[in-house]
Amino acid sequence: MRILPTLDRAAVRTGFDALAARPEVAADHVQFRRDLVESQWAVLDRYPDPADPRDEASLRFALSALRERLVSSGRKTRLLDRVITVVADDPAARVAWLNASLEDPNGGRLASLSARLDEPAEALAFLAGIVTAPFAYLRARSRDVAAYPEAVAGRCFACGALPGLALITPPDGKRLLCCGSCGARWEQPRLACPGCRSSGAMTALRMPDMPDVRVESCDTCLGALTTVDLRARESSEAPVLPLLERTAALPMDLLVEEDGFRPLHPYCAIL
Ligand SMILES: [Zn+2]
Ligand SMILES: [Zn+2]
Repeated sequence: MRILPTLDRAAVRTGFDALAARPEVAADHVQFRRDLVESQWAVLDRYPDPADPRDEASLRFALSALRERLVSSGRKTRLLDRVITVVADDPAARVAWLNASLEDPNGGRLASLSARLDEPAEALAFLAGIVTAPFAYLRARSRDVAAYPEAVAGRCFACGALPGLALITPPDGKRLLCCGSCGARWEQPRLACPGCRSSGAMTALRMPDMPDVRVESCDTCLGALTTVDLRARESSEAPVLPLLERTAALPMDLLVEEDGFRPLHPYCAIL
């Protein structure tokens, strides 16, 4: 099963409102993710036809839309400002930054840029993911689902990124993976780890106040995947919005990171 879900901004905004009212979720983190996605939607409005984020004009627009939104929320933009300087001065560095971040969304291939800018590789990769995700969303939807060739197991069929969330769907418990970049969803057997495709068991971490959410972590590659069991929500009519699920699950992300695991993808998609 392959799905290219369509963005419903009103549903995402309503979901963020509901999330902000939940005491166990840090309000500042909710507002941060909301600021990021609102800036990503500004990119959709400016570039309704698929554009290449490696082009200077489109990338500059995405970075400045993000900067504007962060400034309006009173946030620091030091990392962003440094990256904007690199974009202006060095086209090769710009392309290398975006390509390396697509290959490893946790920044494993960004050591030299990290040293040059004196900023954490992980943050640089996350920023690249945020500015490229709206373009990935549009590009993925420029073809019919059926037109995509067979994908590498564990990777998005439409854009090749790793999943940022898993959904266990009713009634039979099939696992749908949600791309962390373009937002496409595809089915994959529950046993295999999408990160390393090992079939070794994944360990599940649960929290008492989130009974239908767990983080599955892999002892082989140390990847972690937030997993939402929708079978417990059958009565609910609300649409499933992976961005909101990941935002709500931040405390679980932090717990598994303390144990040495890291999310397969930080989740940068626009829905
Ligand atoms: Zn994708
Ligand atoms: Zn693994």
